[in-house]
Amino acid sequence: MPPVRLPNFVGGTWRRPQAEAWLPVFNPATAEVLAEVPLSAAAELDEAVASATAAQAAWRDVPVTERVGYLFRYFRLLEEHYEELARTITRECGKTLAEARGELRRGLESVQAACALPLLLQGYSNEQLAYDLDEHLFRQPLGVAAAVTPFNFPAMIPLWFLPYAVGCGNALLLKPSERVPHTAVRLVELLAETGLPRALVQLLHGGQELVHAMCDHPGIHGISLVGSTQAARAVYQRAAAAGKRVQCQGGARNALVVMPDADLDGAVQAAADGAFGCAGQRCLATSLAIAVDQARHRFIPAIQAVAASRRVGNGLDPQVEMGPLITQESQARVVRFVAEAENAGAKPLLDGRGRRVPGYEQGFFVFPTVLAATADAALAHAEVFGPVLSLLEARNLDEALSLINSGRYGNMACLFTRDGAAARRFRYEAQVGNVGINVGVAAPMAWYPFSGWKESFFGDLHAQGRHAVEFYTQTKVVMERWPRGRGGSVS
Ligand code: NAD
Repeated sequence: MPPVRLPNFVGGTWRRPQAEAWLPVFNPATAEVLAEVPLSAAAELDEAVASATAAQAAWRDVPVTERVGYLFRYFRLLEEHYEELARTITRECGKTLAEARGELRRGLESVQAACALPLLLQGYSNEQLAYDLDEHLFRQPLGVAAAVTPFNFPAMIPLWFLPYAVGCGNALLLKPSERVPHTAVRLVELLAETGLPRALVQLLHGGQELVHAMCDHPGIHGISLVGSTQAARAVYQRAAAAGKRVQCQGGARNALVVMPDADLDGAVQAAADGAFGCAGQRCLATSLAIAVDQARHRFIPAIQAVAASRRVGNGLDPQVEMGPLITQESQARVVRFVAEAENAGAKPLLDGRGRRVPGYEQGFFVFPTVLAATADAALAHAEVFGPVLSLLEARNLDEALSLINSGRYGNMACLFTRDGAAARRFRYEAQVGNVGINVGVAAPMAWYPFSGWKESFFGDLHAQGRHAVEFYTQTKVVMERWPRGRGGSVS
C-alpha cells in the first residue's frame, strides 16, 4: 500500500493540494514512513487568502464574548482527545509520551489564556482631555495572519498562535512543519468541530517556497515563524520588506550555571532534564553547563552518571526517558557536531554516538553525550539540537556571565544557587530573554511572552500573553469632540 497523502484544509474543505513534490513523514523511532506530505505550490495560497479574507470580514463583527465561546469548546475537545493527540505527537516527533502530554498541557494553557480576551482586548480612554474632547484607544483585528511552525512542539507551538489570532478577530493560515503534519491536521479537525466558521483557520502543508509566498502575499498582514535562526532571519527580512508585521523566534545555545552553594542534586537533575529532555530538541535545551569554582568536583561526575542512566528508546514505551532525533539527517548532524567539537579540543566524557536501541535498529537515535569542552569550542558552535551537553568551568559568577554574554544567541540562561544577591545579579546581567533561577527549563507559561534576544528572536512582539494580543491587533485612536452649547449648558 502506498503511504497516505495528507490533504490541505483550504476554504473550509479538506482537499488534495496542487503539489509537485511530496515528502515522506517518518516515525523517527522506527524509520517507518507514516504518510506523505505535500510541498504545496505557491498558487494554492491565493484561494486560501481569498476565502480567509472573506471569513475574517464577517468574523470581526462577532463579539469577543462569542469568539471566546468557540475557544472554551475547543479547550474541552482538546481535553477529550488528550491521549490520542499525545500519541500522535510521539509517533511523528519521537519524544516520550510524558513529554508529549506535557507540551499538550502547555498548548491548552494558551487556549485558556486566550479565553480572557474580553479583558485583554480592552483599550483605554480619557474624558475631557481638552475642552469638550475625549480620546479613546481601541484594538481592532489585524486581518489575515500566517503562522509557520517547527517540528519540535507539534501541538504547543501552533497553539501559541491559533487561539489568540482567532480570539482577537483574525483569520489564520497555519503552515506546520513538514515533518510533523499529523498533529496539525488533528488540531484543525477538532477546531472545525467547535462550529467555528470553516474558512477562518486554514492548513497548508509546504516548505520554504510556500513560506516565501506567504511573506510576499499582499493579502496576509502578519506572519509568525518559530524555527532555526536561519529561517527566522530570512522570513523576518522578507516579510518586513513586504510591509508585514513579523515575529520570528529562532535557535539557541542555552547555559545553566551551577554555583558552589547550589542544591547540587536539584542542579544535576535540572541539567540532565534540560540537556536530554526531548532528546535535546528544544529551543530551551541546556547545551552548556558551567560549573563555578568548587562546584565542578561534585557536578561533573554526577551529571555523567545521570546522563549514562537515561533510558533511550521508542517514546511510546512508558519506561523510556529519551526518544530519537527527528530525522536521519539530524542524527548525522549531531554525530558530526561531536566530532567537530572533539577536533576543537573537547573530550567526550560520555559518548552517545553509534549506539543502537534493540528492536529499533533503524531509529534515528543518538544517546546522551557529555563533553568536557573548551570555551572557544563550546561558544563558537551553532545550536546542537541534540542530546549533547558541553561542560565548562568558570572561576566565579563574573566569568560565567561573560561566557554567556559572549554567545550569539539570547534565548535562556539559568542559575542554580542559594545566594539571593548572586541570583539577582544574574537576573539583571544575563543578556537573554528568559531567565531561570533554580529552574532548568525556564519556558514562560502561557500568560507571559516567550521572550528571546539577539539571534534567538527577530521582531519586537513575542508569542504568548499580552504580546500576542498586541501582535494580533492594531490600535485605533479616536478623538471625539461634542461641543457643549453656548453658556456652558450641555446641548
Ligand atoms: P526549521 O527552521 O527547519 O523549520 C521551521 C519552519 O520554517 C518549518 O515550517 C519550515 O518549513 C520553515 N522553514 C525552514 N526553512 C525556511 C526558510 N529558509 N524560509 C522559510 N521557511 C523556512 O526548524 P525546525 O528544524 O523545524 O525546528 C527546530 C528549530 O526551531 C531550532 O533551531 C529551535 O531552536 C527552533 N525553535 C525555536 C523556538 C523559540 O521559541 N525560539 C521554539 C521552538 C523551536
